[in-house]
Amino acid sequence: MKVTEYLSGAKKPIISLEVLPPQKGKSIESIYKTLDPMMEFDPAFVNVTYHRAEQVYKKRKDGSFESVEIRKRPGTVGICAAIMGKYKVEAIPHLICGGFSKEETENALIDLNFLGVQNVLALRGDAAANEKFFTPHPKGHRYAEELVQQVINMNKGEYLEDDIINGVNTDFCIGVAGYPEKHFEAPNMDMDLYHLKRKIDLGADYITTQMFFNNQHYYNFENKCKEAGINAPIVPGLKPLYNQRQLTVVPSIFNTEIPNDLAKAMSEAKTPEACEKVGEEWLYEQCKDLLKNNVPILHFYTLGRPNVVLNVLKRLF
Ligand code: FAD
Repeated sequence: MKVTEYLSGAKKPIISLEVLPPQKGKSIESIYKTLDPMMEFDPAFVNVTYHRAEQVYKKRKDGSFESVEIRKRPGTVGICAAIMGKYKVEAIPHLICGGFSKEETENALIDLNFLGVQNVLALRGDAAANEKFFTPHPKGHRYAEELVQQVINMNKGEYLEDDIINGVNTDFCIGVAGYPEKHFEAPNMDMDLYHLKRKIDLGADYITTQMFFNNQHYYNFENKCKEAGINAPIVPGLKPLYNQRQLTVVPSIFNTEIPNDLAKAMSEAKTPEACEKVGEEWLYEQCKDLLKNNVPILHFYTLGRPNVVLNVLKRLF
């Protein structure tokens, strides 16, 4: 089922989750350990993130170094298949431009279509770990909107090779990213919304937001989207904080503000357990407020401490 169908047909608030593929060489059990206890809350879909290869230096036996490309978290497509098979819920792979050629993306989309995956989240991806700025793959896309266009073309049966005639039409429902506090590269919110609208106008179906810790950012974003003529459904992304290190790491990686009350309470927490409790309480209150304001779905980033998300779900539903 498509995300848009879930959202338009929902009679009560729904939940969805995001998981990360395990590091290369590790078992899929970590995903099952996260998802098993969440299933009683009937998630409509589970997103699976996508990760590009990184350039790392490896020490040779003679002491010199060589630069090698390593994809630390492969397996998104396989994990989607495993989740759909085990839990009978929709799995949504993230697709990114960074590090992938258009042909590799096309092949991934073909695999996903064969597997019966009906939704994708089309993203640009961030700069590679060894780059300051995002550099597109020489045969890839520069912006998410180009990836959206590629998926739309396939939905129309148009493949990269123009000698494919009567190509099978895929039927992917396409999600794109939105940023309640603005994407960090955008010169201002209006420009960011202008590019978001382009993705929707091309044919993307819904928006999933970057995490936010102050609901007012989300409500403002919803209003600004409406003013800008963006009427696609918006899925709010929520992440629990659970340790003091995140107070600096999260804003620097995700460019999100941590409200003072939350930052202060976490800094003053005397034990790791107390800190986790502060994060849980904040997330719980955030969710309650969103539900009170008729948000139809809560999407949880489970990375790190899925137990915090689980505790919040138990208290909410
Ligand atoms: P875009 O929509 O391409 O926007 C990037 C920037 O360029 C913005 O500032 C935008 O305003 C601007 N822009 C867009 N189009 C144009 C244009 N035509 N001309 C000029 N400027 C333009 N990353 C991963 O690597 N893997 C994941 O699985 C992953 N999952 C994510 C899930 C969610 C819900 C979110 C919010 C982010 C996720 N990310 C993931 C991170 C994401 O890839 C980064 O935030 C990335 O920097 C931007 O991606 P985007 O799709 O928003 O890019």
